[in-house]
Amino acid sequence: MTKKVLIAGFTGAMGQKVIKLVNSLDDFEIVGGLSPEIKYEPKEYGLSNEVKLFNQRDAIPDQFADIWIDFTTPSAVYENVKYALTHHIAPIVGTTGLTDRQEDELSLISKKEKIGGLIAPNFGMSAVLLMKFAKEAAKYFPDVEIIEMHHADKKDAPSGTALATAKMIAQNRPPHQSAPDEVETLSNVRGGDYQGIKIHSIRLPGYVAHEQVMFGGTGEALTLRQDSFDRQSFMNGVKVALEKIDTLHELVIGLENIL
Ligand code: NAP
Repeated sequence: MTKKVLIAGFTGAMGQKVIKLVNSLDDFEIVGGLSPEIKYEPKEYGLSNEVKLFNQRDAIPDQFADIWIDFTTPSAVYENVKYALTHHIAPIVGTTGLTDRQEDELSLISKKEKIGGLIAPNFGMSAVLLMKFAKEAAKYFPDVEIIEMHHADKKDAPSGTALATAKMIAQNRPPHQSAPDEVETLSNVRGGDYQGIKIHSIRLPGYVAHEQVMFGGTGEALTLRQDSFDRQSFMNGVKVALEKIDTLHELVIGLENIL
């Protein structure tokens, strides 16, 4: 049976890629789009004219769609996913910026409402593999720093991927403090700190999404790097999520957990 999809953030850079992806899949049909500023008719956004456009979340009826794909903004994503879960629409979430506490709360709602979904800070295969390799390397190289580089319009920092990478590294590395006696003579010059792992966020025009994890050891170093040069690179992961969403009975965090 064809699954009905609503795209939150359909006017955005990622939303536009998702429209093309879903339109190319036989088993899925876009029935709705959500974005605060709707200026044109659906066809101007690559949608059929039957697609219903909403500029307010609360106007979306219960069970309006089977799947809610979210590529919006850090300030909207928590309420969006909560709305989807409580209206029995399975969320596939690419928007970054959710806090640990918000993720925990959404997981509880998902269990209560008995509806599964996926939150993936990165849908790119290269980023998912980088996180996996970094987690493994952390066992042997506890001195590590993360540099993430994104386009200048990115609203949140650090990137969801950098934070997810730091969390995975923290699970595997022995307790450790790099450079414990350092003094910053320029504030924040050493970057953000997640459990002793420094994260540096770079925002520049021309970049899309890139991450480098640098491990240092005695007389040696290991650098892992991934580059997403085009937002199309995230669509393979979104396709996998669409294909597997029916098998998810709770809210899963991380694409790697459904591959
Ligand atoms: P973007 O071009 O700025 O698009 C944001 C979209 O969200 C627009 O359609 C915007 O609508 C809409 N929006 C804003 N406020 C909203 C609200 N309150 N409710 C519903 N929709 C709202 O951003 P983008 O580059 O597509 O990125 C979107 C998100 O995806 C970001 O958080 C980014 O970090 C994340 N991302 C994730 C991945 C991944 O692999 N997980 C990859 C790339 C990006 P208007 O135009 O009407 O304001």
